[in-house]
Amino acid sequence: MSAFRCAGCDYVYDEAKGAPREGFPAGTLFEDIPEDWCCPDCAVREKVDFEEVGVKQ
Ligand SMILES: [Zn+2]
Repeated sequence: MSAFRCAGCDYVYDEAKGAPREGFPAGTLFEDIPEDWCCPDCAVREKVDFEEVGVKQ
């Protein structure tokens, strides 16, 4: 599992945790998130702007 950080704020999407409020249950891969998904914190950056921040075991 990996985690991805928004380039515009400090929001991190962790695949292991998912984002239940966004409709993505724990274990949802980042690649399975729609391309037009926006950062839920800043609502400015989109998925393409996120940076991978490492693989978690
Ligand atoms: Zn953001």
